[in-house]
Amino acid sequence: MNAPTSTSNPHSGEAAEPIVWLNGELTPLCEARVPVLDRGFIFGDGIYEVVPVYALEAEGAEPGAGKLRVPFRIAQHLARLARSLDKVGIANPFDEAGWRALIARVIEANEAAGALARDAHANVYLQVTRGVAKRGHAFPAGVTPTVLVMANPLVMPGAAQRASGVACVTAEDRRWLNCDIKSTSLLGNVLMAQNAAEHGVFETIQLRDGWLTEASSSNVWVVKDGALYAPPRSNKILEGIRYGLVEELAQECGIRFEAREIDEAALRAADELLVTSATKEILPVVELDGQGVGSGKPGPVYAALYEAYQRAKAREARAVFAAREALAACK
Ligand code: PMP
Repeated sequence: MNAPTSTSNPHSGEAAEPIVWLNGELTPLCEARVPVLDRGFIFGDGIYEVVPVYALEAEGAEPGAGKLRVPFRIAQHLARLARSLDKVGIANPFDEAGWRALIARVIEANEAAGALARDAHANVYLQVTRGVAKRGHAFPAGVTPTVLVMANPLVMPGAAQRASGVACVTAEDRRWLNCDIKSTSLLGNVLMAQNAAEHGVFETIQLRDGWLTEASSSNVWVVKDGALYAPPRSNKILEGIRYGLVEELAQECGIRFEAREIDEAALRAADELLVTSATKEILPVVELDGQGVGSGKPGPVYAALYEAYQRAKAREARAVFAAREALAACK
């Protein structure tokens, strides 16, 4: 299939229209339509994923060879998508290879349309809803899931924000108890993000009955006396793909990690606080409810983990490059 042309001219200075994949078709975003009876619209009955696809230089590549597309931790993202779909009884429309091919296709279409620069990192959004059916709460029979894939430029915190750190506020976690499912029913998280916006801060960090859970769209980490702590994996938090990654990075850096319940007093007594997510990578929190965290500046554990994170990206770029070279050698 030919990639559809963009509805705006990429050379005119006007932003080009993104291309999305909706139910088997590549379509300009402004033309993509879902019926009002889609259960994603009616009930928030769907699952989503956000995968960072970096554009990175490959070590060992010919000079001028351009950047490589590196879907970071893609296997883990697709495994979480499969787990979430399974937990809510929606059939996974693709296997891992199918999703990977689809993501590559959507990125290529956006590059061709001028909606995504070839050297820009991408934020790939995948969504699967239960599908379209007459309104009724229980699962309808014989429906086909609705599938949407978008690829937008990845907006990450800037150098200034990394250098200064961010402020957060706390609030009671009033969400349901299936936070491990990456559901599109995000009203609880939306309200917490709005709470942060109204306080003029970066994120709301939530506590359930006095125990730390997570932020509105990030996992939260506490550093005390050089060791790193996070609430254990459970139904009360979304296990970020960075959860397992940060565990690995801590080990690589010789930082002791322990998953354990963290009460409000321990949260407030942290030497460092960190938040992690696909779009933020690792970010230091230097102010909580108007009080300085530790020294009030990004700390050494943050610095070590951030460096290790960048090394992990470079390792994945090398792996993608090596796989491509191996494929080329077979041809
Ligand atoms: N918790 C919540 C509630 C989130 O929305 C996110 C972001 N998807 C995370 C944690 C972090 O997950 P990840 O590291 O996979 O981005």
